[in-house]
Amino acid sequence: MESFDYVIVGAGSAGSVLANRLSEDGKASVCVLEAGPSDWHPFIHIPAGFMYTLVNPRVNWLYTSEPSEWTGGRRIAAPRGKTLGGSSSINGHIYNRGQRLDFDGWAQRGNRSWGYADVLPYFRRTEQRIAPEVDDTFRGRDGNLPITDLDWRDPLCEAFIEGAVEMGIPRNTDYNGTLQAGVSYVQRIIRNGRRVSAARGYLHPAMKRPNLAVHTHAHATSLVLEGKKAVGVRYRKGGRNGQQVEVRARREVILSGGAVNSPQLLQLSGIGPASLLQSLGIPLQHDLPGVGENLRDHYAPRFVARVKGAETINEKAHGLRLAGEVLKYALTRKGILSLNPTLIYVFWKSDERVDNYDLQLTFTPASYKEGVQSTLDDFPGMTIASWQQRPDSTGYVRSKSADPFVHPIIQPNYLAAESDRQVLLAGMKLARRLLGSRPLSKYYDREEFPGAQAQSDADLLAAAKQRGTTTFHLMGTCRMAPDSDPTAVVDDQLRVRGLEGLRVVDASIMPTMPSANLNASVLMIAEKAADMIRGRPALDAVLLNE
Ligand SMILES: Cc1cc2nc3c(=O)[nH]c(=O)nc-3n(C[C@H](O)[C@H](O)[C@H](O)COP(=O)(O)OP(=O)(O)OC[C@H]3O[C@@H](n4cnc5c(N)ncnc54)[C@H](O)[C@@H]3O)c2cc1C
Repeated sequence: MESFDYVIVGAGSAGSVLANRLSEDGKASVCVLEAGPSDWHPFIHIPAGFMYTLVNPRVNWLYTSEPSEWTGGRRIAAPRGKTLGGSSSINGHIYNRGQRLDFDGWAQRGNRSWGYADVLPYFRRTEQRIAPEVDDTFRGRDGNLPITDLDWRDPLCEAFIEGAVEMGIPRNTDYNGTLQAGVSYVQRIIRNGRRVSAARGYLHPAMKRPNLAVHTHAHATSLVLEGKKAVGVRYRKGGRNGQQVEVRARREVILSGGAVNSPQLLQLSGIGPASLLQSLGIPLQHDLPGVGENLRDHYAPRFVARVKGAETINEKAHGLRLAGEVLKYALTRKGILSLNPTLIYVFWKSDERVDNYDLQLTFTPASYKEGVQSTLDDFPGMTIASWQQRPDSTGYVRSKSADPFVHPIIQPNYLAAESDRQVLLAGMKLARRLLGSRPLSKYYDREEFPGAQAQSDADLLAAAKQRGTTTFHLMGTCRMAPDSDPTAVVDDQLRVRGLEGLRVVDASIMPTMPSANLNASVLMIAEKAADMIRGRPALDAVLLNE
């Protein structure tokens, strides 16, 4: 039986950072178990490859969420990365940290040392910000991940930005700096036209170390507990029919399986809501009602307009034009293959009278069939998506079976909260105003979806029901909270409550949704957790003048 100081389950965004940091001084031995394969697949590394990895079972768990009222009874695809780098290997690789208020909110809920001043130095630690001007208060220069500004320009994007500015939304040259609000080209984690996943930035550079073992095709099926202490992990080599193996952890087991799999693994191990485990016939080891609860996600309806007088990505992605783009990418790392799913961000407010930037919108000079991001339309199109940054609706992840290979139930309860529907409606109306702006009018032909007939709030909500999709930001299912919160799963050191030798470090620990796309926050969480696990003092808080 193998034995290590630390066993990490999952080589995703968080697991890759931890593997690097916990092994860097050579003092501790570290084993990472990753259910998926190595990240060799070329479509992982080509930015536009996300369209293939989104639906590719080799590198994707291909989950779906449960139907609900506000999705019109639809199941919605919930992709999750299943390879080295996890979701950071299949995501849109856009870099967005969120607002100061998000993290101050975490601290105000009783999570000591998680306020903005505390987390800012860890955000900086992850970053190698590449830009003509770098504000050192907010941005890092020496981190593992290159953060660059999108260098694509085209008439539609420029007209969109001009339109936003005319409507009073200012240009923002760094939405990860002093203020998030405004309109900006996106920042991406990319180098020389290739994605830099957490695996590429953190894990691969560490894999030469003799004290780090990375096991791929290693699907963790349960934790090994001795009383109330986690002492190891059982996994299957090569999937369901593979050999069952046990690996021991002398110091700690760390779960970094992500917001779906970490709560599932706890539940399969008898750690979770007693009634759920009983119904599945899983012997109860530790009653923890919050495991799997508090699931949140961003839900985005998209407006699609037909374009005239300008080229969009749609035409370039078909037939001979596509062959030319492939060649261009091969020779110069430019062109549409170097693009990610969305090119421009708008951060704005649902209510002009309230100083709260609770809306995120994205623009791209492309459109997708039925709103699904894996197939482009045959006509020239552009898309605006909008969503509420901090949703109140919560759902859950619950194991469906004691069989670790059966996908769990994922119910995000999109838009269940009235407050979410109100903010969403404001976002949809803003999206339409942006589409109708004066600078964009020369390119605007007509609205394809939902279409000009959809005018009332009821019509817009019907459109959101019909075609809204996830923006892939599942979080919150092993919530960090003080003891007084009955749904608390981990404490502010990310230790599982009531157990020893067990932490969760990934998107599932987030107490509330940050106004962001999550990857940056997950990397920050893992950097911070690494210091906690190693018993190192936290980086000095950055106290900002108001
Ligand atoms: C399609 C998509 C697009 C996205 N776009 C963006 C974006 O543009 N910008 C952004 O900031 N965020 C984006 N996100 C969100 C962001 O990438 C994720 O929130 C983040 O990567 C989650 O990190 P994590 O460490 O919590 O989990 P993951 O990165 O998902 O890692 C979990 C890892 O654990 C492994 N694992 C799970 N269970 C087991 C088990 N039982 N045994 C062994 N291994 C296991 C998984 O295979 C995976 O490798 C996107 C996500 C997706 C899926």
